[in-house]
Amino acid sequence: MPEHPVPWYGGLEGVAYRYYDLRMNIVPLVGSLKEASSIWYETAHWWVDPSIRVRFVEAGERYWFVMGSESRKPASNRGFFKELARSEHYERFKRGHGGEAYLRFGTYDRLDLAAAKKRDVCDCGHEAGDHDEGDGDACLFYECSCRRFSSLQVRLFKRRKTITDILFLDEGSARGDQLAWNCLESNKYSLSRG
Ligand SMILES: [Zn+2]
Ligand SMILES: [Zn+2]
Repeated sequence: MPEHPVPWYGGLEGVAYRYYDLRMNIVPLVGSLKEASSIWYETAHWWVDPSIRVRFVEAGERYWFVMGSESRKPASNRGFFKELARSEHYERFKRGHGGEAYLRFGTYDRLDLAAAKKRDVCDCGHEAGDHDEGDGDACLFYECSCRRFSSLQVRLFKRRKTITDILFLDEGSARGDQLAWNCLESNKYSLSRG
């Protein structure tokens, strides 16, 4: 039987990468914990863990996050994607994941320097204490180009899955990957809008 095409969900607000429970976590971000919960119980809960695939398709300073899986409930199955800028957190995940990660959905708040505690970490990878309150919140590290402290505070939906099929691709090698290529082909209108 031909594979039934799975619809794509393009409504993610971002993707966070964090250590929790001694393992890297991939955290697709949505607008509310209620939405995270409904995505979980309609879709991700039914995924068969060893069949969950995550693909990162890199293009210059940007990349596509692509995620899909076989489901025990095919009628409500979906794939997820988001085009994003390559961040410090992304690069750290790429270096450190070791072939597996937990999947959790989550929500986020943005914290500025005035609201941050000393140890809160900026998107540039340096702590609030390393940013200058007197100088437009710029990072004090010589080699860092960050001009304003901004920290993504992630709240997690507690349920999780384990991902063991993770690949980093470029646009050329994405052609040979069924999930990545299906996503790029189906959603390229947003790629060109980019
Ligand atoms: Zn910074
Ligand atoms: Zn910095």
